[in-house]
Amino acid sequence: MSTTAPSDFARLRRLHERGAYDAATIHAVLDAATHCHVGHVIDGRPVVIPTLHWREGDTVYWHGSAASRMLRNNAGGGEVCLTATLIDGYVLARSGFHHSVNYRSVMCFGTARLVEATEEKTAALKGFVDRLFPGRWDTLRPPTAQELKATAVLAMPIREAAAKMRSGPPGDDPEDLTWPAWAGVLPLHIAPGAPQPDAHVTGGLLPPATPG
Ligand SMILES: Cc1cc2nc3c(=O)[nH]c(=O)nc-3n(C[C@H](O)[C@H](O)[C@H](O)COP(=O)(O)OP(=O)(O)OC[C@H]3O[C@@H](n4cnc5c(N)ncnc54)[C@H](O)[C@@H]3O)c2cc1C
Repeated sequence: MSTTAPSDFARLRRLHERGAYDAATIHAVLDAATHCHVGHVIDGRPVVIPTLHWREGDTVYWHGSAASRMLRNNAGGGEVCLTATLIDGYVLARSGFHHSVNYRSVMCFGTARLVEATEEKTAALKGFVDRLFPGRWDTLRPPTAQELKATAVLAMPIREAAAKMRSGPPGDDPEDLTWPAWAGVLPLHIAPGAPQPDAHVTGGLLPPATPG
């Protein structure tokens, strides 16, 4: 990932003070996000697909069926924009204009390659499962050759990326601060519920620790 200033293409323009380009910030947002959207062009038309992702160093991964149009297209070397977003809260102001949202988002640009070697693919998939549930991969039935063949894994070294974040209270105009409307932040977050074991779980088997 480039440590230099962002290119003109990736540089934030609107509210650029909310932006960051350093690896630590980009990685933190990618790691905290439950999912991403992969944007690419197919037959001259933009397509944006929601999917799960994970990261190792400066490489971001996603996976799917080997027959997936998205994965076949991504493996073709075309430009990809992978965006991940967390919504941290609705921001309610005293005017409609100043309503906002607290968020952390990243946009990563690059080209992807298909992970083909069995060992590398298996390690990548282990990273995917263990990112969500640390240590779970080693408790699972190992993948079969057929399962690995049916699964495509894409790896995209992050060529450049931008993060944009907002936090804090609304930014009302000073003359509005006495306006009689409630204002503040309504926090939002995704949280796991109570585990629901399926009908085949036997005594003594515990659910994994829930991701934070
Ligand atoms: C949950 C959420 C809600 C939002 N709601 C609105 C809204 O209602 N209206 C609105 O105008 N904007 C909203 N934004 C901000 C929006 O994502 C854009 O940043 C903004 O619209 C500027 O767009 P632009 O076309 O001018 O970007 P450009 O100036 O074309 O972007 C240039 C470059 O800046 C970087 N960049 C831009 N936006 C982001 C981003 N969000 N995250 C990371 N990198 C970025 C990319 O590298 C991009 O290539 C929202 C963002 C989030 C995460």
